[in-house]
Amino acid sequence: MYIDVHAHLTDKAYNDFNATMSEIAAANVGLVICSGYDLESSYLARDLAEKHENIYFSAGFQPQELDKYKPGDLARLQKLCRHEKCLAIGEIGLDYHYENNPPKDFQKEIFAAQLNLAHAEGLPVVIHSRDCAEDMLAFLHEHKDKLTHGGLLHCYSHSAEQSTHFERLGFYFSFGGTSTFSTARKVKKSVERISIERILTETDSPYLTPEPKRGQFPNTPANIPYIAKNLAQIKGVDEATFVEQVYQNALRLFKKLPALQ
Ligand SMILES: [Zn+2]
Repeated sequence: MYIDVHAHLTDKAYNDFNATMSEIAAANVGLVICSGYDLESSYLARDLAEKHENIYFSAGFQPQELDKYKPGDLARLQKLCRHEKCLAIGEIGLDYHYENNPPKDFQKEIFAAQLNLAHAEGLPVVIHSRDCAEDMLAFLHEHKDKLTHGGLLHCYSHSAEQSTHFERLGFYFSFGGTSTFSTARKVKKSVERISIERILTETDSPYLTPEPKRGQFPNTPANIPYIAKNLAQIKGVDEATFVEQVYQNALRLFKKLPALQ
């Protein structure tokens, strides 16, 4: 059974949701974690999780969405994350990609508040980290005591060398479509270097459709087998062994996830 630990099934792109769910089932993807990126999408992810047995969710404010952040939202997130199907606080983090992204200090303030929340609630964190490797590492070191319930760096895009530092902090790493692109040498080096007990599969749907479907929109969790096959190849193990390992990794990280097999 394949799993997708990071997808945005709340996106408007899924205008025939039943058809999407059928494709996911037909591809033998048995579990999808739908990630919130602001308060509204976190509530919508919860609604999907309540309707579909194989959907779980995470709740949090992504750095690029912070212009919507209001006082009181942290308390709302706290209430939401106590839901039995909320597996993590996320996605949260830092993003320095665009010049007009929210100010770095504000990003760090809300990131720290959400790390505190995860720590207090006994949940792992799902981290979005783009063009900020040095700051992210320093920040996580500084807040190491808040990482006792583990964390995932989703769509890992920093260097292979830096992955060693994140791994020492106890992090897991998920890889999606970009790991299948022939140009993704940096990502492949990271996959080679990171231990197989720390790797997870994701799509970040509706974006980043993997090869051989690259360019199609929307991406869906039904494309996970392409990603898993490619990652297994990079790690030099057969696909079935890899897929089982990924599932065991997910159970270790997401403690609220019931064993399904
Ligand atoms: Zn995402």
